[in-house]
Amino acid sequence: MSSRIVKCCAALRAFVLCSLVLLIAPACTRTGASGAPIQFRPTIEPQADAGPAQLVAPALMVLDEPPDRPLYTLNVTLDYDNGTVHTQEKIEFRNPTGLAITEIKFNVPPARRAGAIDVRDARIFGQAQPLTFEVTNTVLSVQLPAPLPAGAGIALAFDYVLKIPLQEVTLGIGGDDSSRGPYSLTAGHWYILLAPWENGDWYTPGYVPVGDNYVSEVADYTVNILAPEGIIIAGAGEEAREGRLWRYSLPMARVFAFGASPVYQIDQIEQDGITYIHYTYPEHRKFTEAVLYTAARAVALYSELYGPYPYRTLRIVETGRSQGQEYSGMIGIGTTLYDGYAGRGSRHDLIATTAHEVAHQWWFHRVGNDQIRSPWLDESLARMSELRFYQHYYPRDADWWYQRYISANRPRGSIDLPLSAYPDGRAYIIAVYQRGLMFLNDTRKRIGPETFDAALRDYSEAMAYKMATPNDFFDALARHTAEDLTDLVSGYFASAVVLPCRISGNAVGCRR
Ligand SMILES: [Zn+2]
Repeated sequence: MSSRIVKCCAALRAFVLCSLVLLIAPACTRTGASGAPIQFRPTIEPQADAGPAQLVAPALMVLDEPPDRPLYTLNVTLDYDNGTVHTQEKIEFRNPTGLAITEIKFNVPPARRAGAIDVRDARIFGQAQPLTFEVTNTVLSVQLPAPLPAGAGIALAFDYVLKIPLQEVTLGIGGDDSSRGPYSLTAGHWYILLAPWENGDWYTPGYVPVGDNYVSEVADYTVNILAPEGIIIAGAGEEAREGRLWRYSLPMARVFAFGASPVYQIDQIEQDGITYIHYTYPEHRKFTEAVLYTAARAVALYSELYGPYPYRTLRIVETGRSQGQEYSGMIGIGTTLYDGYAGRGSRHDLIATTAHEVAHQWWFHRVGNDQIRSPWLDESLARMSELRFYQHYYPRDADWWYQRYISANRPRGSIDLPLSAYPDGRAYIIAVYQRGLMFLNDTRKRIGPETFDAALRDYSEAMAYKMATPNDFFDALARHTAEDLTDLVSGYFASAVVLPCRISGNAVGCRR
């Protein structure tokens, strides 16, 4: 649980208590797996004089102390057999726009499939009157009955049922990060996410079939998942289990993800105060030690290079997919990645992918970026981290790694295109992961490894829990070197990057 206490009106506090009572009191809890979903809706209606809340306009209740960042409370009933997730979601947040607004937009990635999500209700939390809303493609738009002043806080509540799709057979990188296979279900970017506010509009980029088509800002999460008997939940953050109720607290996160399975085998180790927990299918449990120690070694190295790992737990969760996937405090490892591993040694996708996904705890989770418009900013750094992992722990295998992941294909393609500009997953991987690594390696050679490492550490600290842009990356380099990088950048980038003057030989029009 975050140390931050929910500061809000009395009605909101009542919601938390009411939800908790409903969750843990058998008399209040209806069956979640096969019967009617549990009910979380508060029974207390707000009064004009209820607590410190104030009515600034008819029917619009604002929070007297809005949270510094969005606070999500997700009360979830999982029907594992049918692959449905019934959620009552509350989002408390401050109007980020600087304007009085009557419309708020949210990204709902699973809605890219027609009929996948059934939003049954949207309202200002605690109010009797539902709000007008619509779901168009992957965007949920909510209309407020009166303007929400700039900087004011509000709590919105949603009630919806999501059908998690069956895992697609995909090659390459992309597709749903919420899916179910024969042995498990994974919920990645599965809920209603407040859209970032950028350049005077809500940022709602929609679905792209290649890469990670998600964008999310840091938020706090309190999650309660009621699962059927016999289903193991693997959720991110601090966990407390009370029978079928799995409770999680995950502060300062980009996303809250969880896996679920009736067959998960759980193993864990502890190193340097961090608990590493591996959830795997029985046939792959024999690899658990290799996976756990790979994750722990990766965290140790990256903590030294980029700054400390922020949580006390890291969950490594086998999924029904064929690829790895990063989440906050958790990584997914696709089941096919275990194929053919001998149980020892590092020359295998299982080890490389684990090291890669762990690196995203820094390049995605800690330092956020627009994964749709600038996917190179996290993927090339995650790939470089893989290489550093091999160079540090398995120096004799570093050449094998480079040959397999970097030299295997003829390098081509600009590294800085948005996801939608790459024709397919293969072109995307070759450009962003392969040439992206080459760009970083060349830059490291040009300015010197120690200078590069210092700049990267600086970038990680300066942009921690923010959304970094390519300019932020180059600014960090320019704080540590005066080498002219113009030729390198023009060789790898398609866009006309305006470099800081210090690393562009004071080119005409350079950034001061
Ligand atoms: Zn990655």
